[in-house]
Amino acid sequence: MNFKGRDIVTIKDFKKEEIVKILDVAEEMLPIAHGKEKSNLLQGYIMASLFFEPSTRTRLSFEAAMKRLGGNVIGFAQPGTTSIQKGESLADTIRTAESYCDVIVIRHPKEGSARLAAEFAAVPIINGGDGAGRHPTQCLLDLFTIRREKGGIEGNKIALLGDLKYGRTVHSLAYALSLFKTEMVFIAPSELQMPKEVVEECRKNGAKLSIKNELDDVDGIDVLYVTRIQKERFPDPEEYEKVAGSYRIDMDILKNAKENMIIMHPLPRVNEISPAIDATKHAAYFRQTFNGVPVRMALLALILGVIE
Ligand code: ASP
Repeated sequence: MNFKGRDIVTIKDFKKEEIVKILDVAEEMLPIAHGKEKSNLLQGYIMASLFFEPSTRTRLSFEAAMKRLGGNVIGFAQPGTTSIQKGESLADTIRTAESYCDVIVIRHPKEGSARLAAEFAAVPIINGGDGAGRHPTQCLLDLFTIRREKGGIEGNKIALLGDLKYGRTVHSLAYALSLFKTEMVFIAPSELQMPKEVVEECRKNGAKLSIKNELDDVDGIDVLYVTRIQKERFPDPEEYEKVAGSYRIDMDILKNAKENMIIMHPLPRVNEISPAIDATKHAAYFRQTFNGVPVRMALLALILGVIE
């Protein structure tokens, strides 16, 4: 297994055993991620974080990961303050950034932009989310969360609920879960169902999956993964209005829930999970948020080649 120097554009870049390896390293990173142990593993390394689209968790947890390991961070969160505003191309921005750093994390509203960046850069490119495409590092932290919360990934019945059409996190997660022995249920109004090619990829991997339009019951579900409707990706605002508010998790739904069912969400949440759920033992989404740090630490350390 060799991670050094690799681009991470999609979760498909990894074999199952490589995913497991990253999660194992993330486990070892936990005391450092919590700030209980200090580390200089990435001292002298610089990560550029180029965010062309809003982000809270991905950007901050990548930066925290780098800094917890003694590394440095440069970058921008508002492309409007850079030469992109003057018309500079993505290729030239990438060629510039790479001359100042050892690894680049990029988030961009256009699908395929991370792939394009990887073609231009000699330093590793990590996709921090490309449009409605993929979000591989979110996927790794989601798997890490399931493993920690449920004691393992395999054997779980996992429901993905919400905007499965435009939600990049669920595209990556569905694919990854199809590599493990899980049962998946895709639940979304028909307008927001999982793209055919993702369903096909999962089936090709032998996934056991079913497709539903409504969450009528949570009976038997071990992990309920809820997503936000990706309002900004709808080409037509009227189409958004048709599906807005079409699902919401509230206390009522929990009546039939398994005692140890967890609710996950990549966040931000808008109104698809009632805040009353936060205080229940089912809510795992803030622990999930934290898990971005150890997982991204593991990934950075492996890709920069300071651990094997
Ligand atoms: N934060 C996640 C993403 O960037 C989920 C979302 O925005 O709804 O894809």
